[in-house]
Amino acid sequence: MLKTPHTFTPASEPFSAALDSSVPPLRLLFRGNELCVDVEGRRVKGGERQDDDLVIGMFDGQLIVAAMAETAYAPPADARFAGLRSLFGVMSDDLVAIAGRAIQIVEWNRSHQYCGVCATPTERLQHERSRKCPACGHAAYPRISPAMMCLVTRGNQILLARNVNFPAGRYSALAGFLEAGESIEDAVHREVEEEVGIKVSNLRYFSSQSWPFPHSLMIAFTAAYAGGTLTPNIHEIAEADWFNADNLPQLPPRISIARELIEDTLTRIRGE
Ligand SMILES: [Zn+2]
Repeated sequence: MLKTPHTFTPASEPFSAALDSSVPPLRLLFRGNELCVDVEGRRVKGGERQDDDLVIGMFDGQLIVAAMAETAYAPPADARFAGLRSLFGVMSDDLVAIAGRAIQIVEWNRSHQYCGVCATPTERLQHERSRKCPACGHAAYPRISPAMMCLVTRGNQILLARNVNFPAGRYSALAGFLEAGESIEDAVHREVEEEVGIKVSNLRYFSSQSWPFPHSLMIAFTAAYAGGTLTPNIHEIAEADWFNADNLPQLPPRISIARELIEDTLTRIRGE
C-alpha cells in the first residue's frame, strides 16, 4: 500500500547536508493533481530547482523539492502529467508515496496565498510548515482530514459495501470522514450505523494511511457485528453484503489500506 519509506525525512527547509551535497535536488512538478513524469511514467521529470520551490524533505541522501505549475503549463516533449494513482505499480512505491506527501503541501501552499481572515497576502515561514498573515497573525497549516475505515466481521464473514461512486462491481470496507468534535471511535460507530444501519462492538485498531486524494488520513479498524438489519443508505451505499473468503467481489487496488485490511482480516478469520 501507499506508505512513506523509512529513509525519508520530512523538512520544510533544506538540510545543511543537502546544501553541501553534489547531488542535485529531485524536483516534483505538479499541475493540478498530476505529476510530471517521463513517457513511461517511471521517472520524475520536474526540471531544475527554482527559488520558490517548496522543500519536502530528504530521501536517500537527495533533497526533494516540489512546485505547482500553472494550469496552462505544457510539459516538454519527453514528459507528461499523470495522476498519482495511475503511477502506482509503474513508478517506485517510495516515490509515489513521497509525491503523495508533496502534492498535499504544494496544494496547501497554492490555496493559502491570502489570509482567510483579512485577505492580506500570507508569508511562508521557513522554520515550520505554515503560512502566516503579516497583518493579523492568522496562520494556516496543511490540512489533514481524518477519516475512519471499518471492516465489520460476523463469524467468518466480512461486510463489504459498494459506494455509489465506486466502479461497478467494486466493494470495500466502510469509510467516512470525522465530524468536528468526534473521537475516531465515535466516527466508526456513527458512520457504520449511518451507512448500513447496524451496530458494532469490539473495535480493534488496524493501521493508518495517508491518502493524498486530496488530503485524508485513513484510520482503519475491524469491528464485530453487534446487531441490526443491514440497510444500506442509498445516498452513499449502492449495495452492501456479507462475504467470506470463497465468494469475494472485486476488491480495492493494492495502493489502499482497504485491501490490506480486508486480506489481513480474512487471514485472521481463517486462523481462528
Ligand atoms: Zn490576516
